[in-house]
Amino acid sequence: MLQLQNLELEILRVKKVIKRLQEQAQTLLREKEEIEGKRQTLRERIEEVKEKIKEHLRGIEECKQRVKRAEENLPLVKKAEEYKALLREKAKGEDCIIKLKDNLRKLEEELKSLENSQKDRGLIKKLEEIQEELSDLEYSQSKAYKKLEELEKSFEIMKENTEQKVWQEYLRLKERYGLPVMISVDTFGTCGNCGTKLPSALYSRLVGGEVIPCPSCGRLIYYEEA
Ligand SMILES: [Zn+2]
Repeated sequence: MLQLQNLELEILRVKKVIKRLQEQAQTLLREKEEIEGKRQTLRERIEEVKEKIKEHLRGIEECKQRVKRAEENLPLVKKAEEYKALLREKAKGEDCIIKLKDNLRKLEEELKSLENSQKDRGLIKKLEEIQEELSDLEYSQSKAYKKLEELEKSFEIMKENTEQKVWQEYLRLKERYGLPVMISVDTFGTCGNCGTKLPSALYSRLVGGEVIPCPSCGRLIYYEEA
């Protein structure tokens, strides 16, 4: 029964390890997605800013044309009103160039800073580290699964080789108390599960090799030579 229990405890332990490994992998995957998302947003913003810079350059060109046209027409007009209108047109064009150039300068600064962030080795390195850890975890998981499979196979074999009476008793105790159903008495002569001090008569029987239920918690206790 002790062997059944120890094997089952080992199975539970490996299952817990697998669960923990899966949780760790999940956390890393989330972290990876977050970093990749950030990098994607950065790429998109860089494209956006580049597009805006092109628009601004086109805009500046158009305004320059406007100024040039006005300048070319100035000597051709006869009326003072037309002349004034052309001067206003020229001034508007020049104004527009100043504004666009100002914006353009800001956009170019933003682009530079975005491109610097994109080149940031920190994030790239972090991604590589995560990838490495994920491969590690995958390897550990596959080992744990293999171990679990072996343990479950051994458990089946052990179950088949266990007397029906013992197996039923094991199930009954497990149902009633949970694992462990069997535990050694500790060096203070107390139950290894609940810590109750055992009567000396009972303790002597344990030392003599008997397996007896703890009067307090009901687990089967046995003596184990240190
Ligand atoms: Zn006990």
